[in-house]
Amino acid sequence: MKIISIKNLSKTYNTGKISFKALDNVSVEVESGEFVAIMGPSGSGKSTLMHLMGFLDSPDSGSYTLNGVETAKLSDDEYAQLRSGFIGFVFQQFHLLPRENTVENVELPLIYAGKPESHGEGKKLLAEVGLIAKESNMPNELSGGERQRVAIARSLVNNPEVILADEPTGNLDSKSQTEIMQLLAGLNKKGKTVIMVTHDEEVSEYAGRIVRIRDGKIVSDTVNKGKFYEEPPGFKAGIDSAKSIAKPVISRIEFVDYIRQAFNSIMGNKLRSVLSMLGILIGVAAVIAMLALGQGAKDAIQKSLSSLGTNLLTVIPGNIRMGGVSLGTGTVTRFTLQDVDELAKLPEVKFTSGTVSGRGQIVYQDKNWSTQVQGVGENYPVMRNSVPAFGSFYTENDMRTRNRVCIIGQTVATNLFGDADPLGQQIKINRTSFKVIGVLPAKGSSGWRDQDDVIVMPLTTAMFRLLGKEYVDSIDVQVKDFSMMQDAQDSITALLRKKHKITNPDDTSFQIMNMADIQKTMTDTANSMSLLLGFIAAISLVVGGVGIMNIMLVSVTERTREIGLRKAIGAKRKDIMTQFIIESVLMTFIGGVAGIIFGSSATLLLSAVAKWTTSISLVSVVGVTLFSIGVGVVFGILPAQKAAQLNPIDALRYE
Ligand code: ADP
Repeated sequence: MKIISIKNLSKTYNTGKISFKALDNVSVEVESGEFVAIMGPSGSGKSTLMHLMGFLDSPDSGSYTLNGVETAKLSDDEYAQLRSGFIGFVFQQFHLLPRENTVENVELPLIYAGKPESHGEGKKLLAEVGLIAKESNMPNELSGGERQRVAIARSLVNNPEVILADEPTGNLDSKSQTEIMQLLAGLNKKGKTVIMVTHDEEVSEYAGRIVRIRDGKIVSDTVNKGKFYEEPPGFKAGIDSAKSIAKPVISRIEFVDYIRQAFNSIMGNKLRSVLSMLGILIGVAAVIAMLALGQGAKDAIQKSLSSLGTNLLTVIPGNIRMGGVSLGTGTVTRFTLQDVDELAKLPEVKFTSGTVSGRGQIVYQDKNWSTQVQGVGENYPVMRNSVPAFGSFYTENDMRTRNRVCIIGQTVATNLFGDADPLGQQIKINRTSFKVIGVLPAKGSSGWRDQDDVIVMPLTTAMFRLLGKEYVDSIDVQVKDFSMMQDAQDSITALLRKKHKITNPDDTSFQIMNMADIQKTMTDTANSMSLLLGFIAAISLVVGGVGIMNIMLVSVTERTREIGLRKAIGAKRKDIMTQFIIESVLMTFIGGVAGIIFGSSATLLLSAVAKWTTSISLVSVVGVTLFSIGVGVVFGILPAQKAAQLNPIDALRYE
C-alpha cells in the first residue's frame, strides 16, 4: 500500500530579489515498509523534498497524500500531530536539547503526543540502541555516534510509521556510520518505512531503492537492492489511518513537565535569570513597602484623630475665603465666655469648652521647658478623651476662683520631672506659680506635632491670670449624636449670627470645623498618597516586566533551533506558547515571592528602627503576587508568540 504519494510538488525559495526553484514538479510514491535513499549532488533539493515530506515546510504547489489523507488543507495543529505520531525525524546535527539528559531527550516527543507519563519507553529504546548505560548522561557527554543513536531512539518513541533521516551519518566517523546504518536497516526490517537523504554511495547500499535528484528534478528512480539491504519479512498490508491524526489530551503531568523544563532553562542561565528577576523583585518590594507605609499613615491619622474626640465641632473666629477677597474686612467675631455658655444650651449640644492658648516658659527647680499652654473648659477630659492618667482634672471651683492649678502632658512631665512624681509640685509658668494636679494621658504625635507637649489649666485662669486674654480663641462643641452634626452646625451659626448681629451671611466671620470632615480629608489625602506611591511602585514593576520580556525575547532567539526541534517532533503552537509563558511566569513568580519577602522585611525594619507606622495587608501581598504573575503572562506572550509562529525548518536552520 502506498504510504506516501507526491504529485507535481514544487518549492521556490525567495531570498531578496532572487527566487530559486529548489523543487520543480516532483512526483514520487513510496510503499509502506520501503527503505528509500534520496541522493544527488549538494544543492539539488534533497533536503527540501524531505522537509516537505515531514511537514517542516510547505510546498508552493502540488499534492501530497500521506497514508491516504490529502495533506494540503490540514491545519497547523494537524501537521504538528503528524510530525508527532506518524513521522520520526533524524537530523544530521542530532538536535538534542543540551539541558535535558539522555532519557529526557528520548521521551521529549511524548509530551507533545499527550502521553507525558513515561512508562519506561525512554529506557527501553535506549536499550534498543545500545545506550542504556548512558541514560542519565547529558548530550555533551556523548560522542557523535551516541548522540545520533539517542536521536534515533527519540524518533521512535511515539512508534511512528515513517522515519525521515536527513544525512543521518553526515557528521559521523565510519565506525559510527556503520552502527547508525545498521540501526536504521534494523528498523526497516521491523516494518518501518525509512526515507533517507544521503550523498554517500556506501550509505545508500543499505537502501532498497534509490531516487536521484538533480536541480530540483527527479532524474532516476530505481529499485536497487544494496549490498547491505535486507528484505523485510513482508510489506505491511495497511496502516490504521486513524493513527495519523489522533487527538492528544492535555494532562496534569504535561503541565508538571513544562514547569520542570522551564525550571531547567532558568537554572541553565542563572545569572541572567537572577538579573531579570531582580527587576520584578525590586518592583514588588517597592509596592509592598509603599502600600504598607500608606496604610500605616492612614492608621496613624485615624488613631490620632480619634484621640481628639468624637462628634466634635470647633468654632473659630476669622474667615478664610478661597480666591483671597474677604468682604467682611475687619469684622472678625470674637467669642466671649458667655458665648461658650450659650452654645452649651443648644438642644443638639452636649458640652462646650472654650479654649485659649499661648506659649509658656516653664521652670521647675533647675529645669526649663517651653511649651504650649491651653486654658480649657471643665468638660475637656470627656470631650477630648483626656481624663488624666495620674492625679485629677481641675474642679468647677478652680474655674470659678481662677485657681492656679494645671495638668501637664507626658512630654512636659518627662522633661521637667524625669522619673519623679510631678503631682503636687509647684512649677512656674511665665513666672507665675502653678500646682501640678494631674498628668494627661499619652497621645503620641500627630504628624509633626507632639500632642503630649502641652499644659492645660482652667480657662479663666489662663485668660485672666496668665495670658491676659478677654476672648476665647476657639470653642469646642461636642454634639449629642453624630446624626445631629449638621443641625448643630446650623444652630450654632444661627445663634452666633444673632448674638453678634451678623445679618449678611457673606459677612459671617467665624468658621465651624467638623472633626469628621477633617478626618475624612486627612484620610482621603493619605489614601491618594498611598495610591500614588503604589502607582509609582507599580510602574517599576512594569519596568521589571519589560526586563523579563527582553530576556525572554533574547532567549527565544537563542533557542530558535530548540524551538524548531520541538516543532519537528510534534510541538504545536500552543505547546511552544505554553512553554515560554510558563517560563516567564515562573521567573516573575519567583521574583515576586522574593520581592514580597524583601519588601516585608524592609517594611518591618522601617517600623522597628525608624518607628514608622506600617501595616502590610494580606490583600496587597496576594494582589502583588497575582500582578507579578500577570506581568509574566503579559510580557511572556510576545516572545512566546514569536517563538510559536516560527516555521519548523526555518527555526531548525537558524544560525
Ligand atoms: P540538498 O539537500 O540537496 O543539498 P537543499 O534541498 O537543502 O539541497 O537545497 C536546495 C536549494 O535550495 C539549494 O540551492 C539551497 O541553496 C536552496 N535553499 C534551501 N533552503 C533555502 C532557503 N531557506 N532559502 C533560500 N534558498 C534555500
